[in-house]
Amino acid sequence: MNKNSSNIMALAPNTSNKRETVCIFGTGDFGRALGHKLIQSGYPVVFGSRGTQTSSLIPKEAEVLSHAEAAQKAAIIIIAIQRQHYNFLIPLAEILRGKVLVDISNNLKINQYPESNAEYLAQLVPGAKVVKAFNTVSAWALQSGTLDASRQVFVCGDDMEAKQMVMDIVRALGLTPLDQGSLLAAQEIENYPLQLFPMWKFPILLSLGLIAFFFFYCLIRDVIYPYVYENKDYSFFIAISITNRICPILALILLALVYLPGVLAAIIQLYRGTKYRRFPDWLDKWMLCRKQLGLVALAFASLHVLYTLVIPIRSFVRWRISSQTVSQALNNKTEPLDTTNAWLSDSYLALGILGFFLFVLLGITSLPSVSNNVNWREFRFVQSKLGYLTLVLCTAHTMVYGGKWFLSPSSYRWYLPNAYMLSLIIPCTVLVIKFVLVFPCLDKPLTRIRQGWERNPQYSE
Ligand code: NAP
Repeated sequence: MNKNSSNIMALAPNTSNKRETVCIFGTGDFGRALGHKLIQSGYPVVFGSRGTQTSSLIPKEAEVLSHAEAAQKAAIIIIAIQRQHYNFLIPLAEILRGKVLVDISNNLKINQYPESNAEYLAQLVPGAKVVKAFNTVSAWALQSGTLDASRQVFVCGDDMEAKQMVMDIVRALGLTPLDQGSLLAAQEIENYPLQLFPMWKFPILLSLGLIAFFFFYCLIRDVIYPYVYENKDYSFFIAISITNRICPILALILLALVYLPGVLAAIIQLYRGTKYRRFPDWLDKWMLCRKQLGLVALAFASLHVLYTLVIPIRSFVRWRISSQTVSQALNNKTEPLDTTNAWLSDSYLALGILGFFLFVLLGITSLPSVSNNVNWREFRFVQSKLGYLTLVLCTAHTMVYGGKWFLSPSSYRWYLPNAYMLSLIIPCTVLVIKFVLVFPCLDKPLTRIRQGWERNPQYSE
């Protein structure tokens, strides 16, 4: 057959619109929602239920029969019933022999049972072909048509043909099937809907811990210390001053923590002389949540920008400026412009603006819609090269802001340095290690290791 004729075949409309009947056991929320969707997609639907009377909630195009009668009308049976009721299927085992049983069930807890619900179903009805699917789709999303967030349907099963039949139905409903392999994958698929932002847990807990630490640190230095020694009440600092100190500190530390696992991984690979040994678990997990760490850091940087914008309209700041003006007027003396200070203040603002601009650019390129449109090299360039440049700019912004007070005794209260000094420890460490790793004597062997070279090969040729 020539190329043109095969194209014509592919483009020819499917004249047989008739779809196979699908049976659904259970007329609960999910069964009804799926029934509606299947009927809209052209599938005849028959419900298997304990009571055969129809209700206004059940689609009127569907038949409602007993489980045994309904099962005989279809090759595919979707079990829209909770796992704890599966026992009713045992007496139906003969009727269900050779049928495709689709397990859509979820549990209340991760790894609630020793085996997955789908494997349990396969044990109860050994003659049937069990396929796991649809458990990550909610009845509400099916019914309301808001399936954008859950368009993917994970499918697994031991029988290829049965799995194919279920994946065809998934496609016909306008969803995307993702083949996850054999029924052994069912437990993992059943755990997906029970996970609560798994990649966000570490960044959020870490941020909460750092917020608590720096809040009390700043409270001691900026509110309690002046109260004890000067009897001044600066408690109003909590609303803006302290918050606007914590936000940039967290942004900088979290941004540095995005790049720290990369340099640690490089050191480990150089030390081991191979890339073929697994990193420790904690490092693997840390690397997997770098994007989330970066996005939380960006959120704190954005808050810092907003808090900084309101500084000129704060009553404390206006009072300070006016009292300085009045004191100059009373002394009949105008303070000369300190150009060094002007340079420092302008440079620190410029570094902050540029750092924030690149930070936003990093955030935008991490969005799936953008990252899907750049190739791997472009993505690496942005996330690695521009990422390090952002870290350099933000670290420099902090250093220029307070560099002149580093060694001044007045900036230590109760021997505690200013909080921004602490925030520089991790970024400076990352940048110094990265700088050292760029030296050819380390960079060359590292590049070779990452290309597969081994210092002590495990399998010699
Ligand atoms: P549901 O509203 O409680 O409905 C379950 C249905 O099971 C009942 O309407 C009943 O149908 C049948 N049933 C109850 N007790 C039974 C028994 N002892 N023997 C035989 N049949 C019995 O539950 P659902 O929300 O539809 O969920 C059904 C399954 O889908 C569950 O496994 C759930 O994990 C899964 N799921 C649900 C959703 C969701 O958004 N709801 C999402 C993903 C997965 P009859 O009265 O017709 O017999």
